[in-house]
Amino acid sequence: MKCIFCEIINKNIPSSIVYEDEGVIAFLDINPRTRGHTLVVPKRHVSSLIELSDEEVCELFRDVKKCAELLMKKLGATGFNIGLNNGRSAGQLIEHVHVHILPRYGDEGKGFESAFPIDEELSEKVKNMPKGLIDFSTLP
Ligand code: AMP
Ligand code: ZN
Repeated sequence: MKCIFCEIINKNIPSSIVYEDEGVIAFLDINPRTRGHTLVVPKRHVSSLIELSDEEVCELFRDVKKCAELLMKKLGATGFNIGLNNGRSAGQLIEHVHVHILPRYGDEGKGFESAFPIDEELSEKVKNMPKGLIDFSTLP
């Protein structure tokens, strides 16, 4: 099956491009959650962040920073959220790794708590965990 983001990278599918360089393209999400919602996509097709080399991760996040700065400047955004849905269990729909940048406007907006409310039961248990470098077997 053809990857829709590879098609965008190869310019077979048009997109509204925010930024592009040798290894990365950034374009507007067609279902924007905020004004200027942008996807930053490495040109090499891999589905997971873990599959990128350290150098590719550096390049990707350097460009995330560049795009966030550009969106703040050009759109007058006053903040931004960054998100990456990695894997089906995390809601990843397009299996080509991409970083969402959601420019934010005004003051006192909601952060991750709107998508992920605190799990009070886990919260109590985490507060009682031993401190310092964790032993994963003690994680509630
Ligand atoms: P996810 O894989 O869950 O991070 O979501 C994929 C994102 O890609 C969604 O927010 C879609 O709106 C967006 N999307 C899907 N097709 C296109 C397209 N042709 N151009 C721009 N964005 C797209
Ligand atoms: Zn792809």
